[in-house]
Amino acid sequence: MTKVPPAPRADVVAMTGYTPGEQPRAGERSIKLNTNENPYPPSPAVMAAIATLEPEGLRRYPSPLADEFREIAAQVHGVTPDMVVTGNGSDEILSMVLRTFCAAGDVLAYPHPTYSLYPVLAGLAQLKVAEVPWEPNWTLPTEGLLAAGPKAIFFANPNAPSGTVVPPLVIADLAARFAGIVLVDEAYIDFADVGTDALGLLKSHPNVIVTRTLSKGYSLAGLRFGYAISHPATICQLLKMKDSYNCDSISIVAATAALRDRTTAQASWQAVQSERARLREALIQRGFDVPATQTNFLLTAVPGGDGNAVYQKLKAAGILIRFFDKPGLRDKVRITVGTPAQDDELLAVIDR
Ligand SMILES: *Cc1c(COP(=O)(O)O)cnc(C)c1O
Repeated sequence: MTKVPPAPRADVVAMTGYTPGEQPRAGERSIKLNTNENPYPPSPAVMAAIATLEPEGLRRYPSPLADEFREIAAQVHGVTPDMVVTGNGSDEILSMVLRTFCAAGDVLAYPHPTYSLYPVLAGLAQLKVAEVPWEPNWTLPTEGLLAAGPKAIFFANPNAPSGTVVPPLVIADLAARFAGIVLVDEAYIDFADVGTDALGLLKSHPNVIVTRTLSKGYSLAGLRFGYAISHPATICQLLKMKDSYNCDSISIVAATAALRDRTTAQASWQAVQSERARLREALIQRGFDVPATQTNFLLTAVPGGDGNAVYQKLKAAGILIRFFDKPGLRDKVRITVGTPAQDDELLAVIDR
């Protein structure tokens, strides 16, 4: 009998894994402006739909393909249900796409900085990553991405942590010049201007995959539900790669209700948009450098240039924001737009 468990894959041991934003324990009083959750509650229709679940609905396995959800998503987006695949959060979809299209040693390229989960998922799939710096003003580095010789190109649009948007025409140009997958991660699209999404590209660019999540726009981060829209031939392959019952009965019922009743969510998008303008203005008045954003968060350089100090001081006062200890981001913090009352508390602490 050995005294230690067997050695895992060496590359797994060498990995650091994803660092999620802090989640306070239930009952702990704090204002959470660190993980880009929607500050407003989900639609009452979602809670009502969950309450209608019969024991039978839990006794049985869920619909393997989440058929009800695929139908409503197809209606909402003007596509067919065979162009939709659902996931346990859109994070699972990102992982499915990498495992479906890339083999060990292939390259995943993405503009940098961006969502810090991409390199982690690439590592799990034994891929190499090409982190291509954004061009000035967060312009897509199309040439650099293509030059990296990737199998797939990922980018978040709007991007995190910058909150900036790449116009659909620029995405079309990239997709037309590239034979591999172009995945557009639209986690924050609900907060962006109308006309910035990439769904219109799907018809003429079969290599484009658009991913969406209910975590941000629909106030359902705890539910874990996301989906992708792409060519039926691509979806057909992705379906083989997912876990057999990757979305549970509760999440399917709830996500379907959320997409059926979009009015509550849409009201929250408008509230976030106007509050983000107010918060930005208030921070600028206090000496912060805050570029415009199309998301529910602001990336801002802090007066004095020490992002970590501002993060620590706010934390001590019970307000969580995000600091990234990475080159180019150490003078900045990322602040999720909260309710006006939450943001007022943030501003009050900053004033002290
Ligand atoms: C939050 C986020 C996601 C994913 O969210 P899920 O909760 O897994 O659906 C994906 N991409 C970006 C850029 C995000 O910020």
